[in-house]
Amino acid sequence: MSQPNNDEALKPNNFLRHVIEHDLETNALAGRHFAGTPGDAAHHAAGPLDPARIRTRFPPEPNGYLHIGHAKAICLNFGLARDYGGICHLRFDDTNPEKEEQEYVDAIKEMVSWLGWDWNAGGTSHLFQASDYFDFMYAAAEHLITAGLAYVDEQTAEEMRVNRGDFNTPGTASPCRARSPEENLARFREMRDGLHADGAMVLRAKIDLASPNINLRDPTLYRIRRATHHNTGDKWCIYPMYTYAHPIEDALERITHSVCTVEFEDQRPFYDWLLNALADGGLLARPLPHQYEFGRLNLSYVVTSKRKLRQLVEDGYVAGWDDPRMPTLVGMRRRGYTPESIRNMVDSSGVTKQNAWLDYSVLDGCLRTDLEGKAGRACAVLDPLKLKLTNYTEIFGSADHREACSAPAHPHLPELGIRHFSLGPELWVEQEDFMEVPSKGYHRLYPGNKARLKYGYVIECTGCEKDADGQVTAVLATLVPDTKSGTPGADAVKVKGVITWVGAHEAVAAEVRLYDRLFKEAQPDAGGKDFLQAINPDSLKITQAWLEPSLKAVPLGTHLQFERHGYFVTDRVDHAQGRPVFNKTASLKDGWK
Ligand code: ATP
Ligand code: MG
Repeated sequence: MSQPNNDEALKPNNFLRHVIEHDLETNALAGRHFAGTPGDAAHHAAGPLDPARIRTRFPPEPNGYLHIGHAKAICLNFGLARDYGGICHLRFDDTNPEKEEQEYVDAIKEMVSWLGWDWNAGGTSHLFQASDYFDFMYAAAEHLITAGLAYVDEQTAEEMRVNRGDFNTPGTASPCRARSPEENLARFREMRDGLHADGAMVLRAKIDLASPNINLRDPTLYRIRRATHHNTGDKWCIYPMYTYAHPIEDALERITHSVCTVEFEDQRPFYDWLLNALADGGLLARPLPHQYEFGRLNLSYVVTSKRKLRQLVEDGYVAGWDDPRMPTLVGMRRRGYTPESIRNMVDSSGVTKQNAWLDYSVLDGCLRTDLEGKAGRACAVLDPLKLKLTNYTEIFGSADHREACSAPAHPHLPELGIRHFSLGPELWVEQEDFMEVPSKGYHRLYPGNKARLKYGYVIECTGCEKDADGQVTAVLATLVPDTKSGTPGADAVKVKGVITWVGAHEAVAAEVRLYDRLFKEAQPDAGGKDFLQAINPDSLKITQAWLEPSLKAVPLGTHLQFERHGYFVTDRVDHAQGRPVFNKTASLKDGWK
């Protein structure tokens, strides 16, 4: 698979590039051995020099679907590897068995590929899973215990919390802290062997109870949890904590730059403490990975926490993880966002230490730029009103006559060909294209006014038909002869309004789904607010539309620009031959006010 290319001049500020360039210039990473697969110090020492100049990784926890924030981390890590002759690993951080599932693993792989990235490099896969390192993590824990750097604590969770102290108060040692390594080792093996109940005790690092960094006040390394793991089954009843597992995963894979989001900044001292302790013990190879933090990407008018996204799905606020209103990548794909537009948006947002709120309009701007140059054009009437050409037979000699019309599929891409359609005595036009009493500046159809049927004739509106309730049921108009678009003298009759239309005799019925923001507030969960209060109850509108005949058989995945309405895509789930279903991706101009 080819990787998205890189245009240096377009790169906005990205402090990680400076870090990496500095590391490469100073040879800080030179002399690293890599055995071809993850492993401990001895494993790598026996291998050749690492052919990759840097190693990065994208480490999702398979406990949900990826969202737009993850796209930032994906493009950042894979992009840095691509730009600096490195390799990026895709690693499933699957150390928390209760919430993780194979379904999510598969979906994550699919989305990383969809975005255009590849974890295969040099003919080798760099797809890893943290659970493959459980044996090493366990051995490393025994090493820490033996070295007097970890102990089994039997305090209750509440006692531990209280005894950890706070910003102003140093922690208080647990009675277990003074146990000998032998006692701790025996206890830890009992934990592993299932002799103790869930929650009865934990393994803690022995660091510094007075540290101003609370994360160094003897953090928990292992907990007892009888849960079946999607990969290791029931082999383990103890599982490593994320903060213990993650640095080890990086080191075993010989990651050079471990990039994470800013909330992990306070974890960096522990990251370094742990890896140094294990490297000092000869278990991990040096040079060790370094952690760097960057600001999260948040999108306005949505939430991007997996927990909250799950709640939207499970409580039925949306139709699923791939609902086109969701900021998940599966949802965005179904909505019609292209990988190119997402990558461009991420690239243009830069990489800093600050969490950033990005407006949907920026994303839509990137989308329009991408689709403008490749989406074919078509006519669709989304809010149909019948228009009757009352002089049709008079002009063409028969109501059965079909007057051929055509238009380019794309104004700048002749290779996309020509669309053919035809005029008949009855057409579908948009409701908003007729006003019985026109407002100021209205140039479309009202009695006595002329307007042009796009790619067709000038017509003059003569009135309308109404039902018993006074609702307009049809617009009446007459064709103005000799005004057909593309024929000599066609523009002799000057008009200000142009009408898009579809011939009623050949219109293709379709369901079109129009979306609005999922939330009414720009930051629905800011400051711990209940984000469900901000749900927009009108975020989905379904219309029965009429499409031009060229759309009778549209292949799945087709992006189109419905003239004047915006960009649309066939719905991945419900679109079928003979029963077209389209999603609106974005309007033609920025409509987000
Ligand atoms: P969530 O908070 O939504 O559950 P997470 O951070 O727990 O997300 P992980 O699967 O652990 O999800 O994330 C994998 C990687 O993606 C991590 O390196 C994480 O820092 C990064 N990431 C997650 N959300 C964002 C975001 N909004 N912006 C940038 N990077 C993100
Ligand atoms: Mg996480």
